[in-house]
Amino acid sequence: MDNILSLSAVELGAAIKRGEVTSVEATRAVLDRIAAVEDRYHCYVTVVEETAMRRAAEVQAKINSGELTGPLAGVPVAIKDNMCTTGVLTTCSSRILNNFIPTFSSTAVENLEKAGAVMIGKTNMDEFAMGSTTETSAYGVTKNPWNPEHVPGGSSGGSAAAVAAEECFYALGSDTGGSIRQPASFCGVVGMKPTYGTVSRYGLIAYGSSLDQIGPLCKDVTDCATILETIAGHDPKDSTSVKTETDFTTALVNDVKGLKIGIPRDYFGEGLDPEVRDSVMRAAKLLEEKGAILEEFDLSLVEYAIPTYYTIAAAEASSNLERFDGVKYGYRTADYNGLHNMYKKTRSEGFGPEVKRRIMLGSFVLSSGYYDAYYLKALKVKALIKKAFDDAFARYDLIIGPAAPTTAPKLGQSLQDPIKMYLGDIYTISVNLAGLPGITVPCGVSREGLPIGVQMIGDCFREKTLIRAAYTYEQARGSYVRPGKEA
Ligand code: GLN
Repeated sequence: MDNILSLSAVELGAAIKRGEVTSVEATRAVLDRIAAVEDRYHCYVTVVEETAMRRAAEVQAKINSGELTGPLAGVPVAIKDNMCTTGVLTTCSSRILNNFIPTFSSTAVENLEKAGAVMIGKTNMDEFAMGSTTETSAYGVTKNPWNPEHVPGGSSGGSAAAVAAEECFYALGSDTGGSIRQPASFCGVVGMKPTYGTVSRYGLIAYGSSLDQIGPLCKDVTDCATILETIAGHDPKDSTSVKTETDFTTALVNDVKGLKIGIPRDYFGEGLDPEVRDSVMRAAKLLEEKGAILEEFDLSLVEYAIPTYYTIAAAEASSNLERFDGVKYGYRTADYNGLHNMYKKTRSEGFGPEVKRRIMLGSFVLSSGYYDAYYLKALKVKALIKKAFDDAFARYDLIIGPAAPTTAPKLGQSLQDPIKMYLGDIYTISVNLAGLPGITVPCGVSREGLPIGVQMIGDCFREKTLIRAAYTYEQARGSYVRPGKEA
C-alpha cells in the first residue's frame, strides 16, 4: 500500500485487519515521515523508534492470532508530553521534568494500549500546558504544518501539528481552557474535549485539576468517536471520573433534523476576524440546510470568562506545581547552599517565565486577605457561567461558534503580550469552567491559506449529540484538504 499515511486511524485499523497493510509497515511509514519532516515542524519532544517497532510487531502478532480485534489495533498514536508513560520520558515540556521517567502510565494511555495502540512518541506542548501557541515549551517551538511561519496553537500544539503533518495517525491532547479545540482549529484537524469526568485524569500531570480533560486530536469525526470510546470510562483511580455511557460511535449518524442550535451573539461580535465569522456561519447554515433549527441568543457573562478562568486555573496550578521541588524526582540545581536555597534555585531554574507568572498569580489570589476578593469571587462567577449555559441548554441541543477569534498567529507574536494571548481563549475557556463537552471541526481555509475551525458545544454528557452534529456537518462539508496533500 503506497498511501498509508493519508488514511484515517479507523481506515488504517480496518486495512490492517483486512491484511492489506501491517502495523509494522504503518509504524515504519510514520517513523520515516518523522525523519523527513520533523526538522521543519518539531512536533515531538521524544520519539521512541525502537520501542514502537517492537511494539508494532507484538501487536501485529496479536491481531493475526485474533486476540486484538478493535478498530484501533495496530494504529500508531502520539501522546501529549503531560501524560505519564511507563519507561518513557515525560517532561511536560518543562526543564523541571527533564529527567522524569514515570513508572506508570496514565489510564487514557493504558486504555489505548489495551486496544492495541502503538505509541510513537511524546508531543511538544506549552510548558505545563500553560499557553496557547506551544511557544512556552522548554524544548523549542512547534511550527504549523500549513505554514511554518505560524504557530500550531496550544497547548496541545505538538499533537495537533503531528496529526496535520501526518507524523502520526491520531494523538491525545489535554484541554484545560481550550488546549485541544484551539490547536485543532489552527491545524485543520478534529479535536474534542469531553465532559469533565468522562476520561480519567489519572496520570495526567495536573494543571487546573477542576478543568483538565484528556481528549482526541484526529483526522475526522469517525476517528474522534472511536478514540473517545476507547479512552473513556469510569476509573477508580480518579475520584472525579464518572460512570457514563461510552458507546460514542453509535452517534455517527448523518442526521440533524429538528436539532435546535443556539448561536450566541456574544461569540460573533467585536474581535472576531470576519473571515472566521463567515466561515463559521457557513458551517451553521449547512447544518440548517440539513434540517437543524438555528436561533441567535445572548449567552451573557462572556466577558467574565477570561478573568474567572485565569484566576481559578492559576490558583490550582500554583498548588499543583508545589510538588516540583527537586527532592524526589525531576531537575535539581547543581550547586546550592542549604535546603531552602536548593528549592529556590531548582524552581527558579526549572520553570519558564509563563509558568512562574501563573504560580505567582495563583499564590496571590489564594493568599489570605485576597482569597475572598479573587479566588472565591471567581468560583461564584464560575457558578453563574454554568447557570448561563444551563439556561441555554434548556432551549438548545447545542451551541455553535468559533473556536478562536483568528487563524493561527505568526510565531513570536503572542509571547510579547501575554494578556493578548489570554484574550484569544475567549470562546473555549467557559466550556471548561462549566465542565461541558466541545468539539472543533475544520470548516474552512483563510485567504492566507490557514485553517479555520467551527466549535460545537454540548450539554454535560451529551457527547453523542455533538458527534452526530459534527459528523453530519463533516458529511455535508465534504473532503478537507490537509497540508502535504493534493486537492
Ligand atoms: N491557553 C490556556 C492557558 O494558558 C489554556 C491552556 C490549556 O487548555 N491547557 O491556560
